[in-house]
Amino acid sequence: MISLTALNTLRLPAYAESLVAVRQSSGLLAISESLGDRPRVILGGGSNLVLQGIADHPLDAVVLHNQLRGIVRLPEQDGLTRIRCAGGESWHAFVMWTLAQGLAGLENLALIPGTVGAAPIQNIGAYGVELADRIEAVHAWDFASRDHVMFARDDCRFGYRHSLFKEPEVQGPWNAPRFLVTAVDFSLWPAARSPVVTGYAGLSERLGQMGIQGRPQPLQIAHAVISLRREKLPDPEDLANAGSFFKNPVVPEGLASALKAQHPGLPVYSQADGMKLSAGWLIEAAGLKGVRKGGAGVYDRHALVLVNHGTASGHDLLGLARDIQQAVMSRFGVWLETEPQILPPLHAG
Ligand SMILES: Cc1cc2nc3c(=O)[nH]c(=O)nc-3n(C[C@H](O)[C@H](O)[C@H](O)COP(=O)(O)OP(=O)(O)OC[C@H]3O[C@@H](n4cnc5c(N)ncnc54)[C@H](O)[C@@H]3O)c2cc1C
Repeated sequence: MISLTALNTLRLPAYAESLVAVRQSSGLLAISESLGDRPRVILGGGSNLVLQGIADHPLDAVVLHNQLRGIVRLPEQDGLTRIRCAGGESWHAFVMWTLAQGLAGLENLALIPGTVGAAPIQNIGAYGVELADRIEAVHAWDFASRDHVMFARDDCRFGYRHSLFKEPEVQGPWNAPRFLVTAVDFSLWPAARSPVVTGYAGLSERLGQMGIQGRPQPLQIAHAVISLRREKLPDPEDLANAGSFFKNPVVPEGLASALKAQHPGLPVYSQADGMKLSAGWLIEAAGLKGVRKGGAGVYDRHALVLVNHGTASGHDLLGLARDIQQAVMSRFGVWLETEPQILPPLHAG
């Protein structure tokens, strides 16, 4: 039996029957053949997962651990540099590598944990930029056809923390995911011509505090983002967590206006499909910032982050999440959806 505790950033005690390291995309056919119909799950950096399998109930699936490595330059197009990055590379290390090459576009996404291959799954985003704004294509192994396939960006159905890889009709059940992302193609700008996105969550103020006047360099933006993130979010190495535990809810305009009238401090952002509320604000206003339940807790500096103080199980953490969902529902009439993937999912028992 394999312990998964060190392989998830919530450091939840979880086990699996076996783990297979995926090191070469050319080896995926042999892996598929040897797996046959056995249940499988895909693991990257484990930074967006709640693992429920405990020692006497290990996860009933072979864990495929993405360790595909390599970064290559593709031919330039329309003055943009095209890069293909293998799915098992560290996301943050890749962002810093692009900046060191004088390439811009990913600086706002610095310091997001996890792998490049997982980045398209929930269309990672931060500080006004989403992965979908910067990529060209996603390459994947298809366990159904047992072949390599490619999705152009516009075929990925990217949305807020969403892509087609999260749709059960496409990706299948939790223990038989159809596509394993092997690589992602990016189109990046030369630093001098890149779009600058600094109007979000204190970024331009931080650049000002850093003494940066005028148009900031992409690397300066990355450093500002890194310093803001270090202030707001716990480093999983110091305090186990999976980043934002809930998505910001998108609600009808009527409900948003009614809530805003009652709670003038509530941040509300207009979206194409409704009004986005701040989940962290709702949790804090429900009086839950810093609360603890067993070893699980709400981070005392950012209410959107749930943490493992050391002894929490997946069950404890999900119990706390449920308490938060119910408290916010009864206070504001809004149900918070969890962001990390729960394995096995709650309905799977
Ligand atoms: C401190 C902290 C801060 C964070 N900040 C942000 C943020 O600002 N913005 C944001 O969007 N997210 C954030 N996250 C969440 C997380 O970092 C991202 O979702 C990241 O992309 C997850 O990568 P991973 O490799 O760890 O994926 P994992 O946790 O290993 O997997 C997540 C899901 O993707 C699936 N998956 C993983 N790799 C593949 C693959 N190659 N092919 C198919 N499916 C795959 C898994 O099966 C699972 O369902 C944060 C997390 C932490 C701990």
